[in-house]
Amino acid sequence: VKLVILGGPGAGKGTQAQPLCRHLGISEISTSNILREAIASNTELGRQAKIYVEKGELVPDPILIEFVRNRLTQPDATVGWLLEGYPRTAFQAEELDFLLDDLGLELDWAIYLQVTAAVMMSRCLGRQASVGEASATSLKLRLDDQPQIIQRRINLFYERTMPMLEYYEYRQRLLTINADQSPQQVQQEISQKLHS
Ligand code: AMP
Repeated sequence: VKLVILGGPGAGKGTQAQPLCRHLGISEISTSNILREAIASNTELGRQAKIYVEKGELVPDPILIEFVRNRLTQPDATVGWLLEGYPRTAFQAEELDFLLDDLGLELDWAIYLQVTAAVMMSRCLGRQASVGEASATSLKLRLDDQPQIIQRRINLFYERTMPMLEYYEYRQRLLTINADQSPQQVQQEISQKLHS
């Protein structure tokens, strides 16, 4: 099964992606994790992406699509996957469809974790507090969780990501989930909607 998981910062994409992938036996592909790893290990891609990630800005499309193409053509991707953090704009959604077309694949579902802006903000601030207690390295990796940067990421979600939902809705690929519930309840709702 081939899935994407969508939602604003703090919507719970990472939290839901892990158990869902384990349950379905598919690979979890998170663009933000890969970007953070690339930044930490100072690769060429990492250096290019760093300035954008640290400001909460979107990383330019040409950098990301190449990476997604590489990742989706690796052997473990044949069993299925869940993309997390990509696509993030209507343009990226279209670009992903072109790429899948090229690879002879088709997306099954776009799972949208719907939460309010207030929940996004409070969950991101909570995450920042817990990271603050952790090591200096992880603190450095989460520079993008500072309050004004969080606000910027939330605004970007409304401006750039919301329009993408229409793209999937029009194609009857959108599963909207109430993600203001507990992680277990969200997990249950996803399973129910995927199997109905
Ligand atoms: P996230 O933790 O998913 O909110 O991603 C953290 C940061 O990585 C974002 O604020 C962006 O700078 C960058 N990023 C991740 N995925 C994408 C994407 N699909 N397009 C552009 N930038 C991205």
